Amino acid sequence: VVYLDYNATSPLRPEALEVMLDTLRSVGNASSIHTAGRDAAARVDLARQQVAHLLACAPGELIFTSGATEANNLALHAGYSVGETLATTAVEHPAIREAARAITTDGRGSLVELPVDRDGVVNLTPLEVAIRQGKVSLVSAMLANNETGVLTNMDPIIGLAREAGALVHTDATQYVGRLPLDLNELDVDLLSLSGHKFGGPQGVGALFVRRGTSMPYRPLLIGGGQERGWRAGTLNVPGIAGLGAAAKAAQMQLHNESARVASLRYVLEDGLTSRLPDCYINGARSPRLPGVTNVTFPGLPADALLAAMPEIAASNGSACASGAPSPSHVLLAMGLSRQDADSTVRFSLGYATTEHEIKQAIEATVLAVKEVRTAMAATAE
Ligand code: PLP
Repeated sequence: VVYLDYNATSPLRPEALEVMLDTLRSVGNASSIHTAGRDAAARVDLARQQVAHLLACAPGELIFTSGATEANNLALHAGYSVGETLATTAVEHPAIREAARAITTDGRGSLVELPVDRDGVVNLTPLEVAIRQGKVSLVSAMLANNETGVLTNMDPIIGLAREAGALVHTDATQYVGRLPLDLNELDVDLLSLSGHKFGGPQGVGALFVRRGTSMPYRPLLIGGGQERGWRAGTLNVPGIAGLGAAAKAAQMQLHNESARVASLRYVLEDGLTSRLPDCYINGARSPRLPGVTNVTFPGLPADALLAAMPEIAASNGSACASGAPSPSHVLLAMGLSRQDADSTVRFSLGYATTEHEIKQAIEATVLAVKEVRTAMAATAE
């Protein structure tokens, strides 16, 4: 199988696997004071440093979680002041979109979803209006979109939020480990990440909380007081160790990997658009992540295309929401028709993708398009 679904999950990096196996063979609760416990705590400390290094933040600014879904929920829960306005964008992952809706429902506050244009660029006017009208307490905007790879220009969003005295959260799940990130330069208060998007294990992530940020103290999980009271529960030491190792490996290879992956994406897009002149790429005019392309094949249902190329692991829209019958809210927000949204395939490349695989993917897609077109013409007759 040619795996081109890195935005759904990426293969575990060998460095992460190795440290996880070693940690799984060891024993120790990171909260215990005996030697075994201290060994576990040391593994967690190392991982905290490795992740902090990748983001250019302090290790003490990180809270380990079960992934970005939890980190996003925690960020909204902790950063939002009930009764005030929460602003997000129309293209957020469900882990922000649904959580934001839940947190502001039943008159507990109001939610502003900022629309995007055809290129996926966020329209800030409703945020300006909301700020003039009342108290916006939190703004959450994703750094990179999981379906299209379109990057959000955070500077104007941060500028407006600062004027309003609001906190800023960013869901950086698809960005971390793929493009350089420096939290000295990106002035957000809260940031979510997930290990399995950059070669770490599934089920582990982190929330960055900038030192000195004043927020209501509202953890989601209450219990033994781990993670300085922000996230109770015995730490997932093997997962955290794997996350740290993946962060280190991703950081070391970031420069080369992002350039290499971007050039493979170029080969893929060039191959598809030159051989299939009908297809178009969503978000192509915007700055994007290096490894994602979101391609619409008008008139051809994505499910049928994917079924016609079983050797290629790509996805229809966002894999996180796949299985759901509704079309991609991201593509609809960008102004695609429902039919075009349903005719869209996301290919996402990553650190282990090869040029040979990209050539195979082009050939398979061209064949699948022919096959589905022929089958549809036959049923139409
Ligand atoms: N946010 C974005 C942008 C994502 O792409 C994903 C995963 O697909 C998540 C959040 C959820 O991350 P996790 O799988 O770690 O819960």
